[in-house]
Amino acid sequence: LLGVAAGAPSCPHGPALLFVKTSKGEEEGRRFYACSACRGRKDCNFFQWEDEMVSETRLAAREEYNRNHQPPFTHRQNVERYCYECQQLLLPAEWEEHSDHQFLCDISTAQLKSPSQLLYPLENKKTNAQYLFADRSCQFLLDLIIDLGFRRVLSVGTPRLHEMIQSKASRGEDFRVRSLLLDIDFRYSQFYTEDEFCHYNMFNHYFFGGEAARETCRKFLYQHNGQRVILVTDPPFGGLVEALASSFKKLMAMWKETEKEGHNNQEMPMFWIFPYFFESRILEFFPSFRMMDYQVDYDNHALYKHGKTGRRQSPVRIFTNLTPSMIVLPVEEGYRFCVICQRYVSSGNQHCEICNSCTSKDGRQWKHCILCQKCVKPSWLHCNNCNCCALQNHTCEKTDAGCFVCGKAGHKRSTCPSLS
Ligand code: SAH
Ligand code: ZN
Ligand code: ZN
Ligand code: ZN
Ligand code: ZN
Repeated sequence: LLGVAAGAPSCPHGPALLFVKTSKGEEEGRRFYACSACRGRKDCNFFQWEDEMVSETRLAAREEYNRNHQPPFTHRQNVERYCYECQQLLLPAEWEEHSDHQFLCDISTAQLKSPSQLLYPLENKKTNAQYLFADRSCQFLLDLIIDLGFRRVLSVGTPRLHEMIQSKASRGEDFRVRSLLLDIDFRYSQFYTEDEFCHYNMFNHYFFGGEAARETCRKFLYQHNGQRVILVTDPPFGGLVEALASSFKKLMAMWKETEKEGHNNQEMPMFWIFPYFFESRILEFFPSFRMMDYQVDYDNHALYKHGKTGRRQSPVRIFTNLTPSMIVLPVEEGYRFCVICQRYVSSGNQHCEICNSCTSKDGRQWKHCILCQKCVKPSWLHCNNCNCCALQNHTCEKTDAGCFVCGKAGHKRSTCPSLS
């Protein structure tokens, strides 16, 4: 090889390299040009003697050939290509490895701003369990956050909410809400800077990025000019409530430390999105929290989304330490304000005169049981054996420990009536 020569002819792979061929006995070999990228003649058969005269017609034909043999995508388009199988954005040097994978080409800027649409949801129940907010619910949450006057959202395991905020922030100058995503799904690091995403485990409050990431979070929690911060989280439901609560308390403590005097002994505002049957568990760790009636809907959860015909009831609710009356629920969706309870409730949630409260947890109208001295699900009947209300076809057996899900005695987690 002699190297790159000025004025070298080009093949589809760019300027060719100058080589020299020495035959036995010859002192000076004959010099020629060949492809820079391809070792084999099969891949690129470009060849030209250095002293060879090339006709205008051949030059023109060669240019045409080169043009036709460019890769199907431009550099720009290629950088924006995405491998479905590896769930990775690919750099030019990495394409080769993914050549037999399913690619997504021509990714638009809009798509890059909606990674949750691009990435397939991780549905491993034990670990990730990614259930993405339906657009309607996500928009509702964001509107609520804005109406409540928050300017910063610590999005813990809420990539879609984060995405909606980021996307609006990049479009409108008058949109001043900012978000920091903390999530264990490292695929998101491809789409956000280190100021927008921290690789974080909400079960052990672990920042994979170490002290720098922790500092990013701390800085984000610091309330500049009274820009209020709220923690919004939607953890996997299979998760241990205790572990989650402990991490959230640490995040709240982090918030408190950022400004020693400013918070007047308040708790960091928070929305914890979780199924209603975990109410007693959550309240155990956060006694100041109240459960809202709003039903959070999901895109990829068959059970938790609106059916085409009529509404499927989602069991997922918002738990918050904010004053319930401030959480305004959409009247168009049937929610109404109960003046006595001072909060918005589902249309089916009737105020019980005896309990003096709107008692339904699942949105259906509950009925009061005199013997139990509380309201119960409409499908339940009072069982004299068990001395409480239960499903009619339940098996009357006492278990010592309370149910893991609802905490009540009489059944195990697997047969918890809340889950039915
Ligand atoms: N409804 C939300 C997504 C909730 S799914 C939305 O649409 O934005 C649960 C989220 O928690 C997923 O993003 C998942 O990656 C994340 N997650 C799961 N386990 C986690 C963990 N141990 N630490 C932090 N995030 C976790
Ligand atoms: Zn009421
Ligand atoms: Zn009642
Ligand atoms: Zn009863
Ligand atoms: Zn019974």
